[in-house]
Amino acid sequence: MADSEARYNCRMPTPLSLADFDVIAFDADDTLWHNEELFWEFKRHFKAILARYVDPSADGIDAYIDNKEVSNIGCYGYGFKSYALSMIEALVELSQGRAAADDIARILILLKQQMAADLDFVAGVREVLDHLTGRIDLMLITKGDTQEQRHKIDKSGLAHYFRWIEVVHRKDEGVYRELLAKHGVNPARFLMVGNALRSDILPVVAIGGQAVYIPNNTTWAHELEVPPEYAGLRYSELPALSALPALLRD
Ligand SMILES: [Mg+2]
Repeated sequence: MADSEARYNCRMPTPLSLADFDVIAFDADDTLWHNEELFWEFKRHFKAILARYVDPSADGIDAYIDNKEVSNIGCYGYGFKSYALSMIEALVELSQGRAAADDIARILILLKQQMAADLDFVAGVREVLDHLTGRIDLMLITKGDTQEQRHKIDKSGLAHYFRWIEVVHRKDEGVYRELLAKHGVNPARFLMVGNALRSDILPVVAIGGQAVYIPNNTTWAHELEVPPEYAGLRYSELPALSALPALLRD
């Protein structure tokens, strides 16, 4: 964390006033519920399958798998289905085409298990949303596969807290501008809360909004790599979501 603080000039929490905002938006994965841990579990099971063909602890295997996932974002997008396709590709390539259909089927079973897993909420989610409801409009902005994200939102039982729910395929300045224009929200009166500097925080600050960064020690490494043009942008940082109401003065 020390690195990102130094590079991106985070400011420590100073109280924000609710009256300064019209809308507070929340990221979902790893902000309202834990998600990245499921990918880690998926990868552990995948490596057990891979072990039938190559030593998964050999040099370069981890990097190969991670690179496969990231390099496929452009064509598969984000989410478990995308991850499973990348794991199938990695298995076929690393086994040099020897991977059995049974092992590909095992990856698909893992995918269905991960998608059916119960949501593991971040501590204090309902208390924070209960506190804000009625005081200000809330929005949910989550990135990923539409069906996967909708399924999680339905399963969460939290949808009723949000005036607007948006599932987007990427979170960049253009997408935030579009969303705010669509809902008639002035960026200067918009606050975004999330765990990913690259997706939730810096693009919002870059278009004139404010953001509260709540780091999560399981955040995907890809989300911590941020473009150099964002150096110097300022945002608030909290240790946990449960600290949000205290940061936002009535
Ligand atoms: Mg997130």
